[in-house]
Amino acid sequence: RAAAPTRTSLHSSQHSSDDLTIERNPALKPKPDPSTLVFGKQFSDHMLTVSWSEAGGWQAPQIKPFQNLSLHPASSALHYSIELFEGMKAFRGVDNRIRLFRPMLNMERMYRSTERSCLPLFDKGELIKCINKLVEIDREWVPYSTDASLYIRPTFIGTEPSLGVSRAGHALLFVIIGPVGPYFATGGFSPVSLLADPRYVRAWRGGIGEYKMGGNYGPTIAVQSEAAKQKCQQVLWLYGENEEITEVGTMNLFIYWTTEKGEKELVTPPLDGIILPGVTRQSLLDLAREWGDFKVTERRVLMKELIDALDDGRILEVFGSGTACVVCPVGSLLYRGQTYQIPTMKNGPDLAKRFHKELTDIQYGRIQRDWAPVII
Ligand SMILES: *Cc1c(COP(=O)(O)O)cnc(C)c1O
Repeated sequence: RAAAPTRTSLHSSQHSSDDLTIERNPALKPKPDPSTLVFGKQFSDHMLTVSWSEAGGWQAPQIKPFQNLSLHPASSALHYSIELFEGMKAFRGVDNRIRLFRPMLNMERMYRSTERSCLPLFDKGELIKCINKLVEIDREWVPYSTDASLYIRPTFIGTEPSLGVSRAGHALLFVIIGPVGPYFATGGFSPVSLLADPRYVRAWRGGIGEYKMGGNYGPTIAVQSEAAKQKCQQVLWLYGENEEITEVGTMNLFIYWTTEKGEKELVTPPLDGIILPGVTRQSLLDLAREWGDFKVTERRVLMKELIDALDDGRILEVFGSGTACVVCPVGSLLYRGQTYQIPTMKNGPDLAKRFHKELTDIQYGRIQRDWAPVII
Protein backbone atom coordinates (compact mmCIF):
# COMPACT_ATOMS: atom_id res chain seq x y z
CA ARG A 1 0.00 0.00 0.00
CA ALA A 2 1.30 3.40 -0.94
CA ALA A 3 -0.13 6.58 0.53
CA ALA A 4 -1.38 9.04 -2.06
CA PRO A 5 0.12 12.50 -2.00
CA THR A 6 -3.11 14.32 -1.21
CA ARG A 7 -4.75 14.35 2.21
CA THR A 8 -8.36 13.42 1.73
CA SER A 9 -10.22 13.29 4.99
CA LEU A 10 -13.92 13.03 4.20
CA HIS A 11 -14.82 15.50 6.88
CA SER A 12 -13.20 18.87 7.06
CA SER A 13 -13.27 18.93 10.85
CA GLN A 14 -11.24 15.76 10.98
CA HIS A 15 -7.59 16.72 10.63
CA SER A 16 -6.23 13.27 11.40
CA SER A 17 -4.00 11.29 9.10
CA ASP A 18 -6.91 10.29 6.89
CA ASP A 19 -4.83 9.88 3.79
CA LEU A 20 -6.26 8.08 0.84
CA THR A 21 -4.55 4.70 0.58
CA ILE A 22 -4.26 2.79 -2.66
CA GLU A 23 -3.99 -0.95 -3.04
CA ARG A 24 -3.49 -1.81 -6.69
CA ASN A 25 -5.27 -4.74 -8.25
CA PRO A 26 -2.63 -7.20 -9.47
CA ALA A 27 -5.08 -8.90 -11.85
CA LEU A 28 -6.49 -6.34 -14.28
CA LYS A 29 -9.50 -7.49 -16.29
CA PRO A 30 -9.69 -7.17 -20.07
CA LYS A 31 -11.78 -4.17 -21.15
CA PRO A 32 -15.05 -5.05 -22.88
CA ASP A 33 -15.71 -4.03 -26.47
CA PRO A 34 -17.61 -0.69 -26.21
CA SER A 35 -20.23 -1.91 -28.68
CA THR A 36 -21.28 -4.77 -26.36
CA LEU A 37 -21.72 -2.74 -23.17
CA VAL A 38 -24.87 -3.34 -21.14
CA PHE A 39 -25.72 -0.71 -18.54
CA GLY A 40 -24.50 -1.50 -15.05
CA LYS A 41 -23.11 -4.97 -15.69
CA GLN A 42 -19.40 -4.32 -16.12
CA PHE A 43 -17.21 -2.85 -13.41
CA SER A 44 -13.64 -1.61 -13.40
CA ASP A 45 -10.67 -3.03 -11.48
CA HIS A 46 -10.87 -0.80 -8.41
CA MET A 47 -13.37 0.70 -5.99
CA LEU A 48 -13.33 3.38 -3.31
CA THR A 49 -14.50 2.69 0.22
CA VAL A 50 -14.68 4.99 3.22
CA SER A 51 -16.08 3.72 6.47
CA TRP A 52 -17.43 5.72 9.34
CA SER A 53 -18.43 5.00 12.90
CA GLU A 54 -19.83 7.17 15.60
CA ALA A 55 -16.93 6.28 17.86
CA GLY A 56 -14.09 6.60 15.35
CA GLY A 57 -15.40 9.12 12.81
CA TRP A 58 -14.36 8.83 9.17
CA GLN A 59 -11.63 6.32 8.45
CA ALA A 60 -9.04 6.87 5.76
CA PRO A 61 -10.52 6.51 2.25
CA GLN A 62 -9.26 3.41 0.48
CA ILE A 63 -8.95 2.60 -3.18
CA LYS A 64 -8.64 -1.17 -3.51
CA PRO A 65 -9.36 -4.02 -5.89
CA PHE A 66 -13.04 -4.32 -6.83
CA GLN A 67 -14.45 -6.87 -4.41
CA ASN A 68 -17.49 -8.04 -2.49
CA LEU A 69 -18.50 -6.29 0.69
CA SER A 70 -18.74 -8.13 3.96
CA LEU A 71 -21.74 -6.96 5.99
CA HIS A 72 -23.27 -7.90 9.31
CA PRO A 73 -26.64 -9.50 8.47
CA ALA A 74 -28.44 -6.99 10.69
CA SER A 75 -26.97 -4.02 8.75
CA SER A 76 -29.56 -1.27 8.65
CA ALA A 77 -29.26 -0.83 4.88
CA LEU A 78 -30.54 -4.37 4.41
CA HIS A 79 -33.53 -4.03 6.74
CA TYR A 80 -34.63 -0.41 6.62
CA SER A 81 -33.25 0.77 3.33
CA ILE A 82 -30.78 3.21 4.87
CA GLU A 83 -29.23 3.62 1.46
CA LEU A 84 -28.64 6.39 -1.03
CA PHE A 85 -26.74 6.68 -4.27
CA GLU A 86 -25.69 8.98 -7.08
CA GLY A 87 -25.30 8.55 -10.81
CA MET A 88 -22.70 10.52 -12.75
CA LYS A 89 -20.30 9.98 -15.63
CA ALA A 90 -16.75 10.57 -16.79
CA PHE A 91 -16.20 11.22 -20.50
CA ARG A 92 -13.13 10.83 -22.68
CA GLY A 93 -13.09 13.89 -24.87
CA VAL A 94 -12.00 14.42 -28.46
CA ASP A 95 -8.74 15.76 -26.95
CA ASN A 96 -8.30 12.50 -24.97
CA ARG A 97 -8.76 14.39 -21.70
CA ILE A 98 -11.21 12.98 -19.16
CA ARG A 99 -14.01 15.18 -17.85
CA LEU A 100 -16.80 14.93 -15.29
CA PHE A 101 -20.06 16.81 -15.75
CA ARG A 102 -21.12 19.31 -13.05
CA PRO A 103 -19.94 16.91 -10.32
CA MET A 104 -20.62 19.35 -7.50
CA LEU A 105 -24.35 19.15 -8.27
CA ASN A 106 -24.18 15.39 -7.65
CA MET A 107 -22.24 15.95 -4.43
CA GLU A 108 -24.76 18.49 -3.21
CA ARG A 109 -27.64 16.14 -3.98
CA MET A 110 -25.81 13.28 -2.26
CA TYR A 111 -25.26 15.51 0.75
CA ARG A 112 -28.99 16.29 0.97
CA SER A 113 -29.83 12.56 0.70
CA THR A 114 -27.27 11.92 3.45
CA GLU A 115 -28.89 14.45 5.78
CA ARG A 116 -32.34 13.00 5.10
CA SER A 117 -31.03 9.48 5.83
CA CYS A 118 -29.41 10.54 9.14
CA LEU A 119 -26.08 9.29 7.79
CA PRO A 120 -22.88 11.19 8.67
CA LEU A 121 -22.12 14.29 6.63
CA PHE A 122 -19.03 14.35 4.45
CA ASP A 123 -16.90 16.97 2.75
CA LYS A 124 -18.17 17.24 -0.84
CA GLY A 125 -14.92 18.57 -2.28
CA GLU A 126 -12.92 15.79 -0.62
CA LEU A 127 -15.25 13.13 -1.98
CA ILE A 128 -14.83 14.53 -5.50
CA LYS A 129 -11.05 14.36 -5.05
CA CYS A 130 -11.34 10.67 -4.07
CA ILE A 131 -13.60 9.99 -7.08
CA ASN A 132 -11.14 11.76 -9.39
CA LYS A 133 -8.35 9.57 -8.04
CA LEU A 134 -10.39 6.41 -8.59
CA VAL A 135 -11.13 7.44 -12.19
CA GLU A 136 -7.46 8.27 -12.68
CA ILE A 137 -6.37 4.82 -11.49
CA ASP A 138 -8.96 3.12 -13.71
CA ARG A 139 -8.63 5.66 -16.56
CA GLU A 140 -8.25 2.94 -19.18
CA TRP A 141 -11.86 2.01 -18.31
CA VAL A 142 -13.10 5.35 -19.66
CA PRO A 143 -14.11 4.25 -23.16
CA TYR A 144 -12.17 5.61 -26.12
CA SER A 145 -15.41 6.69 -27.73
CA THR A 146 -17.62 9.76 -27.90
CA ASP A 147 -20.69 7.50 -27.73
CA ALA A 148 -19.73 5.75 -24.50
CA SER A 149 -18.67 6.87 -21.03
CA LEU A 150 -17.69 5.68 -17.57
CA TYR A 151 -20.62 5.49 -15.18
CA ILE A 152 -19.83 6.43 -11.57
CA ARG A 153 -22.00 5.11 -8.77
CA PRO A 154 -21.32 6.68 -5.36
CA THR A 155 -23.30 4.78 -2.72
CA PHE A 156 -23.80 5.31 0.99
CA ILE A 157 -25.26 2.66 3.31
CA GLY A 158 -26.02 2.29 6.98
CA THR A 159 -24.10 -0.69 8.38
CA GLU A 160 -25.32 -0.47 11.96
CA PRO A 161 -25.38 -4.10 13.19
CA SER A 162 -28.68 -3.76 15.01
CA LEU A 163 -32.37 -4.27 14.25
CA GLY A 164 -33.46 -1.14 16.11
CA VAL A 165 -34.98 1.47 13.82
CA SER A 166 -32.55 4.20 14.74
CA ARG A 167 -29.79 6.42 13.39
CA ALA A 168 -26.92 4.32 12.05
CA GLY A 169 -23.79 4.45 14.19
CA HIS A 170 -21.83 2.67 11.47
CA ALA A 171 -21.86 3.50 7.79
CA LEU A 172 -20.00 2.76 4.58
CA LEU A 173 -19.59 5.09 1.65
CA PHE A 174 -18.32 3.41 -1.51
CA VAL A 175 -17.93 4.23 -5.17
CA ILE A 176 -17.95 1.72 -8.02
CA ILE A 177 -17.45 2.59 -11.67
CA GLY A 178 -17.96 0.86 -14.99
CA PRO A 179 -18.10 1.59 -18.71
CA VAL A 180 -21.49 2.18 -20.34
CA GLY A 181 -22.45 2.38 -23.98
CA PRO A 182 -24.77 4.76 -25.78
CA TYR A 183 -28.36 4.77 -24.52
CA PHE A 184 -29.66 4.70 -28.05
CA ALA A 185 -28.20 2.25 -30.54
CA THR A 186 -26.32 4.25 -33.17
CA GLY A 187 -28.54 5.88 -35.73
CA GLY A 188 -30.05 8.45 -33.42
CA PHE A 189 -33.00 8.76 -31.10
CA SER A 190 -35.71 6.23 -30.75
CA PRO A 191 -38.87 7.35 -28.97
CA VAL A 192 -40.35 5.54 -25.94
CA SER A 193 -43.96 4.68 -25.21
CA LEU A 194 -45.41 5.50 -21.79
CA LEU A 195 -48.07 4.06 -19.51
CA ALA A 196 -49.83 6.71 -17.40
CA ASP A 197 -51.89 4.93 -14.76
CA PRO A 198 -53.10 7.11 -11.86
CA ARG A 199 -53.35 4.07 -9.58
CA TYR A 200 -49.58 4.13 -9.10
CA VAL A 201 -47.58 6.84 -7.32
CA ARG A 202 -43.79 7.23 -7.32
CA ALA A 203 -43.45 9.90 -4.65
CA TRP A 204 -45.66 12.16 -2.56
CA ARG A 205 -45.30 15.52 -0.85
CA GLY A 206 -43.69 15.06 2.54
CA GLY A 207 -42.00 11.90 1.33
CA ILE A 208 -38.53 11.31 -0.08
CA GLY A 209 -39.07 11.46 -3.84
CA GLU A 210 -36.62 14.36 -4.17
CA TYR A 211 -33.77 12.27 -2.78
CA LYS A 212 -31.87 9.53 -4.62
CA MET A 213 -32.56 6.93 -1.95
CA GLY A 214 -32.81 3.25 -2.85
CA GLY A 215 -36.26 2.94 -1.28
CA ASN A 216 -37.70 5.06 -4.09
CA TYR A 217 -36.67 2.63 -6.84
CA GLY A 218 -37.28 -0.97 -5.78
CA PRO A 219 -41.07 -0.49 -5.65
CA THR A 220 -41.18 0.91 -9.20
CA ILE A 221 -40.12 -2.39 -10.78
CA ALA A 222 -43.58 -3.94 -10.44
CA VAL A 223 -45.13 -0.88 -12.11
CA GLN A 224 -42.51 -0.96 -14.84
CA SER A 225 -43.43 -4.60 -15.54
CA GLU A 226 -47.12 -3.67 -15.60
CA ALA A 227 -46.21 -1.10 -18.26
CA ALA A 228 -44.27 -3.76 -20.20
CA LYS A 229 -47.30 -6.09 -20.06
CA GLN A 230 -49.29 -3.32 -21.72
CA LYS A 231 -46.55 -2.95 -24.37
CA CYS A 232 -45.25 0.33 -22.93
CA GLN A 233 -41.55 0.95 -22.31
CA GLN A 234 -41.70 3.36 -19.38
CA VAL A 235 -44.02 4.72 -16.72
CA LEU A 236 -45.30 8.29 -16.70
CA TRP A 237 -45.72 9.01 -13.01
CA LEU A 238 -48.83 10.97 -12.05
CA TYR A 239 -49.61 12.49 -8.69
CA GLY A 240 -52.74 13.46 -6.81
CA GLU A 241 -56.40 13.97 -7.60
CA ASN A 242 -55.60 16.39 -10.40
CA GLU A 243 -53.14 13.96 -11.95
CA GLU A 244 -50.08 16.16 -11.99
CA ILE A 245 -47.46 14.95 -14.43
CA THR A 246 -44.24 14.40 -12.49
CA GLU A 247 -41.50 12.24 -14.04
CA VAL A 248 -40.99 9.50 -16.59
CA GLY A 249 -39.30 6.29 -15.42
CA THR A 250 -36.17 7.58 -13.69
CA MET A 251 -36.02 10.73 -15.77
CA ASN A 252 -37.32 14.25 -15.42
CA LEU A 253 -39.97 15.29 -17.89
CA PHE A 254 -40.07 18.20 -20.32
CA ILE A 255 -42.90 19.36 -22.56
CA TYR A 256 -42.24 21.78 -25.42
CA TRP A 257 -45.50 23.18 -26.72
CA THR A 258 -47.38 26.17 -28.01
CA THR A 259 -49.41 27.71 -25.21
CA GLU A 260 -53.07 28.65 -25.62
CA LYS A 261 -51.80 32.22 -26.15
CA GLY A 262 -49.68 31.00 -29.05
CA GLU A 263 -46.25 31.27 -27.40
CA LYS A 264 -43.59 28.56 -27.62
CA GLU A 265 -42.83 27.30 -24.13
CA LEU A 266 -40.66 24.66 -22.49
CA VAL A 267 -42.24 23.47 -19.29
CA THR A 268 -41.13 21.05 -16.59
CA PRO A 269 -42.56 20.33 -13.14
CA PRO A 270 -41.07 22.40 -10.29
CA LEU A 271 -38.85 21.06 -7.49
CA ASP A 272 -41.63 21.04 -4.94
CA GLY A 273 -40.81 17.83 -3.09
CA ILE A 274 -41.85 15.05 -5.45
CA ILE A 275 -39.41 15.68 -8.28
CA LEU A 276 -35.84 14.38 -8.31
CA PRO A 277 -33.62 17.42 -8.96
CA GLY A 278 -31.80 16.11 -12.00
CA VAL A 279 -28.44 17.52 -13.03
CA THR A 280 -29.56 17.14 -16.64
CA ARG A 281 -32.88 18.87 -15.86
CA GLN A 282 -30.99 21.81 -14.35
CA SER A 283 -28.63 21.93 -17.32
CA LEU A 284 -31.46 21.98 -19.88
CA LEU A 285 -33.17 24.79 -17.98
CA ASP A 286 -29.89 26.73 -17.75
CA LEU A 287 -29.19 26.30 -21.48
CA ALA A 288 -32.72 27.19 -22.56
CA ARG A 289 -32.65 30.34 -20.40
CA GLU A 290 -29.28 31.33 -21.85
CA TRP A 291 -30.57 30.86 -25.39
CA GLY A 292 -33.65 32.94 -24.70
CA ASP A 293 -35.38 31.58 -27.80
CA PHE A 294 -38.61 30.56 -26.07
CA LYS A 295 -40.34 30.80 -22.72
CA VAL A 296 -38.97 28.49 -19.98
CA THR A 297 -41.29 27.63 -17.11
CA GLU A 298 -41.13 25.44 -14.03
CA ARG A 299 -44.69 24.79 -12.95
CA ARG A 300 -47.11 22.00 -12.19
CA VAL A 301 -48.66 20.49 -15.34
CA LEU A 302 -51.82 18.41 -15.19
CA MET A 303 -52.58 15.38 -17.33
CA LYS A 304 -55.66 17.19 -18.63
CA GLU A 305 -53.49 20.03 -19.96
CA LEU A 306 -51.29 17.56 -21.84
CA ILE A 307 -54.28 15.74 -23.33
CA ASP A 308 -55.98 19.01 -24.30
CA ALA A 309 -52.78 20.25 -25.94
CA LEU A 310 -52.43 16.97 -27.83
CA ASP A 311 -56.05 17.24 -29.00
CA ASP A 312 -55.42 20.85 -30.10
CA GLY A 313 -52.20 19.87 -31.92
CA ARG A 314 -50.14 22.21 -29.70
CA ILE A 315 -47.58 19.64 -28.52
CA LEU A 316 -44.21 19.95 -30.23
CA GLU A 317 -41.97 17.61 -28.22
CA VAL A 318 -42.13 15.57 -25.03
CA PHE A 319 -38.91 14.12 -23.66
CA GLY A 320 -37.30 12.75 -20.53
CA SER A 321 -33.91 13.91 -19.25
CA GLY A 322 -31.23 12.12 -17.26
CA THR A 323 -27.57 11.21 -17.08
CA ALA A 324 -28.12 7.90 -18.89
CA CYS A 325 -29.61 9.31 -22.11
CA VAL A 326 -29.29 13.13 -21.81
CA VAL A 327 -32.69 13.40 -23.50
CA CYS A 328 -35.13 10.64 -24.42
CA PRO A 329 -38.01 11.42 -26.80
CA VAL A 330 -41.53 10.25 -25.96
CA GLY A 331 -43.55 8.85 -28.86
CA SER A 332 -46.84 7.73 -27.37
CA LEU A 333 -48.90 7.56 -24.23
CA LEU A 334 -51.37 4.95 -22.98
CA TYR A 335 -53.85 6.60 -20.61
CA ARG A 336 -57.20 5.24 -19.42
CA GLY A 337 -57.22 2.64 -22.16
CA GLN A 338 -56.54 5.10 -24.97
CA THR A 339 -53.28 5.46 -26.90
CA TYR A 340 -52.22 9.01 -27.76
CA GLN A 341 -49.55 9.58 -30.39
CA ILE A 342 -47.07 12.30 -29.45
CA PRO A 343 -45.48 14.07 -32.44
CA THR A 344 -42.00 14.43 -30.86
CA MET A 345 -40.21 12.66 -33.71
CA LYS A 346 -42.29 14.38 -36.39
CA ASN A 347 -41.02 17.69 -35.01
CA GLY A 348 -37.37 16.72 -35.45
CA PRO A 349 -37.19 16.51 -32.48
CA ASP A 350 -35.45 19.86 -33.01
CA LEU A 351 -35.23 20.94 -29.40
CA ALA A 352 -34.30 17.52 -27.96
CA LYS A 353 -31.55 17.22 -30.58
CA ARG A 354 -30.28 20.71 -29.86
CA PHE A 355 -30.05 19.92 -26.13
CA HIS A 356 -28.37 16.58 -26.84
CA LYS A 357 -25.78 18.15 -29.10
CA GLU A 358 -25.02 21.03 -26.75
CA LEU A 359 -24.58 18.82 -23.68
CA THR A 360 -22.55 16.10 -25.41
CA ASP A 361 -20.36 18.78 -27.03
CA ILE A 362 -19.55 20.04 -23.54
CA GLN A 363 -19.08 16.54 -22.09
CA TYR A 364 -16.73 15.39 -24.86
CA GLY A 365 -14.75 18.63 -24.91
CA ARG A 366 -15.91 19.87 -28.33
CA ILE A 367 -17.09 23.01 -26.50
CA GLN A 368 -15.13 24.26 -23.49
CA ARG A 369 -17.25 25.11 -20.50
CA ASP A 370 -16.69 25.04 -16.75
CA TRP A 371 -19.57 22.56 -16.44
CA ALA A 372 -17.13 19.84 -17.52
CA PRO A 373 -13.96 20.05 -15.42
CA VAL A 374 -10.98 18.17 -16.85
CA ILE A 375 -9.78 15.69 -14.28
CA ILE A 376 -6.96 13.99 -16.22
C1 LIG B 1 -31.51 10.22 -11.28
C2 LIG B 1 -32.91 10.58 -11.60
C3 LIG B 1 -33.23 11.58 -12.53
C4 LIG B 1 -32.21 12.25 -13.41
O1 LIG B 1 -31.21 12.91 -12.73
P1 LIG B 1 -29.85 13.28 -13.49
O2 LIG B 1 -29.04 13.92 -12.42
O3 LIG B 1 -30.19 14.20 -14.59
O4 LIG B 1 -29.29 11.99 -13.97
C5 LIG B 1 -34.56 11.92 -12.70
N1 LIG B 1 -35.53 11.31 -12.01
C6 LIG B 1 -35.28 10.34 -11.12
C7 LIG B 1 -36.40 9.70 -10.39
C8 LIG B 1 -33.96 9.94 -10.90
O5 LIG B 1 -33.71 8.97 -10.03
